[in-house]
Amino acid sequence: MATIRPERIRQIGFNSGGSGPVVWWIQRDQRLRDNWAALYAHGQAKRLGVPLVACFALSPGFLGATLRQYDFMLGGLEELERDLAARHVPFKLLSGDPGEAVPGLARKLGASLIVTDFNPLRLPRQWRERVSAASPCPVHEVDAHNVVPCWVASGKREVGARTLRPKISRLLPVYLEEFPRVLPQGTGLPDLGRTDWATVRASLEVDESVAPVTWIEPGERAARRQLERFTERRLNGYAEGRNDPNEEHQSDLSPHLHFGHVAAQRVALAVRAARAPAADRDAFLEELIVRRELSDNFCLHEPGYDSPAAFPAWARASLDAHAGDRREYVYTRGEWERAATHDDLWNAAQTEMLRRGKMHGYLRMYWAKKILEWSATYEEAQQTATYLNDRYFLDGRDPNGYAGIAWSIGGLHDRPWFDRPVYGVVRYMNRSGADKKFDIKKYVERVAALDPGGKPA
Ligand SMILES: Cc1cc2nc3c(=O)[nH]c(=O)nc-3n(C[C@H](O)[C@H](O)[C@H](O)COP(=O)(O)OP(=O)(O)OC[C@H]3O[C@@H](n4cnc5c(N)ncnc54)[C@H](O)[C@@H]3O)c2cc1C
Repeated sequence: MATIRPERIRQIGFNSGGSGPVVWWIQRDQRLRDNWAALYAHGQAKRLGVPLVACFALSPGFLGATLRQYDFMLGGLEELERDLAARHVPFKLLSGDPGEAVPGLARKLGASLIVTDFNPLRLPRQWRERVSAASPCPVHEVDAHNVVPCWVASGKREVGARTLRPKISRLLPVYLEEFPRVLPQGTGLPDLGRTDWATVRASLEVDESVAPVTWIEPGERAARRQLERFTERRLNGYAEGRNDPNEEHQSDLSPHLHFGHVAAQRVALAVRAARAPAADRDAFLEELIVRRELSDNFCLHEPGYDSPAAFPAWARASLDAHAGDRREYVYTRGEWERAATHDDLWNAAQTEMLRRGKMHGYLRMYWAKKILEWSATYEEAQQTATYLNDRYFLDGRDPNGYAGIAWSIGGLHDRPWFDRPVYGVVRYMNRSGADKKFDIKKYVERVAALDPGGKPA
């Protein structure tokens, strides 16, 4: 049986179970390989001598997700079902409210245990609570997303990277370990049938006005190919080049990390072993591990992660003190959404979001800071940024997004800077800073040449 550190697992549901299968309820980590939740579910099924089955509950209208995000996710799940079938693990795509659908399946199967993965966001937490209360069996939660399990890294909301970094660094020698060389294996029973994906797609009731993208493919295999390309071609030069949107040094892994097509731990192991300068590997691992896991820490310990309640007190006081400052421009949500501001750089960043469902990391900061500068209030700025982020990004509705927006607009995980209009002491960014870092004209032209699916012309 695969070894798995017990601290990666928490028991969250305490009802006693039947004698049927172990149900692996897949949520955020939608992959077969390098998945602590899958390994644990498989190990428990073997220990109990019962079959293993997998399920995913497709909730209609998840946090305003659009066809773009559903299309990408379903592509990955379709591949996952095929891979599971090859290993004789039955898979059931449930539809409807997961809080009802998952206990329903567990009741039907007389499940002995439900194993699921960890997500710090409010709605998935509510689902887990309801599944735990309503299921006729115990429920175990596994942090399959973070290298250091979120609850092990820290038991409180961290002030910033400088306070989380030493804790994570101390624990990495233990947790940044190779995955066991085992894959879940089932018996093919019970027979849950195969999913009719065409019917699932046809019956989706989601906003279709945000179209799927074509520059990136979904799924576990595509994620691994992308990781290989990154370590071979892009990682070298990451430390310097990642702030230049005209250079292809970012990994483009965030959509895959968001849907769990690849484990951050696998990415970290591959980068650690890559033949690239230490400065590049270290800079990347700082983002992938410390910054990303700081976002999960933030959302786990701050229930109001998408509201001004999440901003540090110094930032909120300063933004309040500047609430009456005159704004040079004030845009409506429609103008933001249509990329119709006076600033060609901002418009290009927004267009990149519209077409690719992704935006270069440096520009995400500029984009959000300008929304603060040119909105009537900082509350409205946070709402606008969250709406656009979650509606258009493939990696939206992610702790990284809520933390990134709160960092840009509300000084989260940052410190006070010089006092200035509108921003107060929240860190400012301007166009001349961007001008020094990269060729703005070239970026604007490159974005204008993207086709509607986000592919370069
Ligand atoms: C306003 C704003 C909004 C953002 N919205 C999102 C979002 O919705 N979803 C999302 O995944 N990220 C978001 N980020 C964080 C970051 O910009 C993206 O993760 C990164 O640009 C994704 O591209 P990549 O995978 O090619 O990045 P790479 O540079 O290749 O980084 C690799 C991975 O490291 C992690 N990472 C990188 N930068 C950060 C960061 N600043 N904070 C936390 N983790 C990071 C991500 O998991 C990323 O995929 C946002 C940042 C800001 C400032």
